[in-house]
Amino acid sequence: MVTATHCPYCSLQCGVDVDGIAVSGREFPTNRGGLCRKGATAGALLRHPDRLTTPLARDHKGAALGPVSWDEALDRVAAAILRTQAEHGPDAVACFGGGGLTNEKAYQLGKFARVALRTRHVDYNGRFCMSSAAAATNRAFGIDRGLPFPLPDIAEADVALLVGSNPADTMPPAMRWFEVGRERGAQHIVVDPRRTATAALAHRHLRALPGTDLALANGLLHIAIRDGLVDEAYVRDRTTGWAAVRRAVRADWPDRTERTTGIAVADLERTVHALATAERAMILTARGAEQHADGTATVTAWINLALALGLPGRGIGSGYATITGQGNGQGGREHGLKADQLPGYRSLADPAARAHVAAVWGVAPDTLPAPGISAYELLDALGGAVKVLLLGASNPAVSAPNAAHVTERLGALDLLVVTDFVLSESARMADVVLPTTQFAEEDGTLTNLEGRVLRRRKALDPPAGVRSELEIWHALASRLRTGEHFSVDARTVYDELRRASAGGTADYAGISWDRLDAGEELFWPCPDEAHPGSPRLFLDTFPTPDGRARFVPVSHRGAVERPDGRFPYVLTTGRSRTHYQSGAQTRRTPELAAAEPDPYAELHPDLATALGVVDGDAVRLTTRRGRVVVRARVTDTIRPDTVFVPFHWPRVNDLTSPRLDPTSRMPEFKSCAVHVAAVSARVPEYEEQPA
Ligand code: SF4
Repeated sequence: MVTATHCPYCSLQCGVDVDGIAVSGREFPTNRGGLCRKGATAGALLRHPDRLTTPLARDHKGAALGPVSWDEALDRVAAAILRTQAEHGPDAVACFGGGGLTNEKAYQLGKFARVALRTRHVDYNGRFCMSSAAAATNRAFGIDRGLPFPLPDIAEADVALLVGSNPADTMPPAMRWFEVGRERGAQHIVVDPRRTATAALAHRHLRALPGTDLALANGLLHIAIRDGLVDEAYVRDRTTGWAAVRRAVRADWPDRTERTTGIAVADLERTVHALATAERAMILTARGAEQHADGTATVTAWINLALALGLPGRGIGSGYATITGQGNGQGGREHGLKADQLPGYRSLADPAARAHVAAVWGVAPDTLPAPGISAYELLDALGGAVKVLLLGASNPAVSAPNAAHVTERLGALDLLVVTDFVLSESARMADVVLPTTQFAEEDGTLTNLEGRVLRRRKALDPPAGVRSELEIWHALASRLRTGEHFSVDARTVYDELRRASAGGTADYAGISWDRLDAGEELFWPCPDEAHPGSPRLFLDTFPTPDGRARFVPVSHRGAVERPDGRFPYVLTTGRSRTHYQSGAQTRRTPELAAAEPDPYAELHPDLATALGVVDGDAVRLTTRRGRVVVRARVTDTIRPDTVFVPFHWPRVNDLTSPRLDPTSRMPEFKSCAVHVAAVSARVPEYEEQPA
């Protein structure tokens, strides 16, 4: 029997048909039947020999993991939670989730942390993905929805500027909307230190130095003001704060911007004139601009430019948007999986929000914990204030910045519990591993990059011995004497989520499974069942107290860690076309593993020549945190001063910086200083005594 559901991977959430374990593309408004290689091979994991089908546990630290019964595993976890909390308080136990969890699971895990564990320590790996854009868009527009318009609107833009975004590799089916635009003459401009597949297709490629996107946006705004391109009526009628931003970019002269970013003045001028004179224009950012210690300010700078040109809410084909990464990165941050949030995008610090959600949960508001700490700070606290960690659908031993340090912290826990369906690098470190269902074995909903709510549908039963996270959290809650608060039925959980979100910013009250199953296209907010949903935001007003978007002045400071004599190049990381996130799934998919078995470092031919390296040679990359040896991929698609490594393999993130954005707490994944050497080269002294 064929079941209509969605791909388990990225935020495009392509529609797929699942028949047995075969996955094929189906007609859906975003992918129109197309799939990338990852989605097309997703069925390979459903009955993979590495699939976990029984709980595992180790008798003591250092012992091997061995099979145990579900009761034994759950009893052990519950006993450790009770013992730890009795001795150290509720915050000594933490939860860490993933952006691939369904809305129902994201909601339930946040509730489990606050109601069953009463801990303030809960966060998720979506913090590493979207938090800078979320913070900036909330501040500017009063709402955080990746695309405030349906994806096909991209085809209607006459000019589209993509900043640090490479959909041609990361979500190929989305490129059809860019292609439709180009076929009717649209101009696409890509800002990226690499000539990516997306940049190669674009009309213009601005090869900016990593970490200079904010300077670029401010420099473009300076030219827009100088050349009289600002939409003064829009600024007057729909925004606040313009005067301060106008002052803030006064010194971002074109030649100064050229020196900072490496983009020629003529290209700066052509770019901003194209955006300003187009009837319909949009600016799209993604992780390349956002994963920095000034990521929130960088996104704010691009929003300032979009507002000055009058783009958000102008109509179809215009606006600002950010392209979400993970499958349910959007939904995860709406339903209480972040340390400071309650369902409906409510704030845990807001007494009225606490009262509303507590009433839905059937608990007293003052029993809800205070806001906790962000993802990296939580991982950094493991083995200190946090003694027990419940880790679900995430693999921070590979995906967190400064990963060697995070791995050490995971090892310092009294008890690490991992729920997953394969033995990821993090699961291998666990004291207890609980095997879970996969995408085709469960019902639920996800929210894609457009804010469109989708139905995930069960196509086949999971292998014997596997349980869903909803069953696991209910079983644990029962042992903690709060089981009555936790349903195992996804529809029941979702209906509770709708009530909890009602009246909030991310209002799902009107989006029922029945409406979705009847084929309605529903985008939040949707406050009641008669409401058609909100595919396009900002057309008349912004959801801020005064209905206006807010300009916020920001200034370029640059990457925290800059090249110097010891670490003379810039390291940047990202996704490859073949793998996904930490690679725990795609590195186990035979076709994908064969296509791209190992990590590599992209080096410009000039750098390769200087190092005496040819394509395929081993090179050692060393940063202030660690070193790895990978193969060189020599290519002129990258700047000579920059090195790119895809992050899907263990140890790559040993290199990256955990410096955090002060607002979003996003780590600075995208830029740090690196030393590069052929492995046969003399080992410099500092490599034996790293700083
Ligand atoms: Fe899956 Fe994303 Fe590929 Fe679509 S683009 S098939 S959602 S990984």
